[in-house]
Amino acid sequence: MKPEKLDATTIVPFLASIFERRGAEDYLGEPVTMAEHMLQGAHFAEAEGAPDVLVAAALLHDVGHYTSEFGSYSPEDTEDKHHDEAGAEVLAPFFPPVLVECVRLHVSAKRFLCATDPSYYAKLSTASKHTLELQGGPMSDAEVAEFRQNPFHSEAVRVRVWDEAGKVAGMKTKQFEDYVPLLERVVRQHKAI
Ligand code: FE
Repeated sequence: MKPEKLDATTIVPFLASIFERRGAEDYLGEPVTMAEHMLQGAHFAEAEGAPDVLVAAALLHDVGHYTSEFGSYSPEDTEDKHHDEAGAEVLAPFFPPVLVECVRLHVSAKRFLCATDPSYYAKLSTASKHTLELQGGPMSDAEVAEFRQNPFHSEAVRVRVWDEAGKVAGMKTKQFEDYVPLLERVVRQHKAI
């Protein structure tokens, strides 16, 4: 479906159908599926008492891996080319800026954390260390300063930490459908503004 065919009433069922049909795909190099990874991210956000919008951000942060579902896939795309940007783009019409920015910045936030928190790099999974190099490695001082200018950078860092945590083999979580009311709420609140 093309993004322009989606609206505030169809976006959540559409996302649910992607999880249902494609959630079982591998999360590259990790012992979890894509759906498990994103559901675990949402779980860790909730466990910290994060607001709905950040739970939703953790749940949806990797949706840019499914750009073929949104009609925005190009055969020239490479795996690391911008699943962060692609995800932000498809969510932007329906979700608040803080969520969209958390999705857009989730790769940058890893590069930021690696530059500013030495213990963070040590905690990365092997696959995540590998993609870090493809993503440009730890940020330079100038990039760190620029990242801090983003009004949502601290929220993006929180989502990143939940993202990194969501790689636990065999962990029990809620299912996507359990988050549908929360997602509908976030979309409705955004529309009401
Ligand atoms: Fe992720």
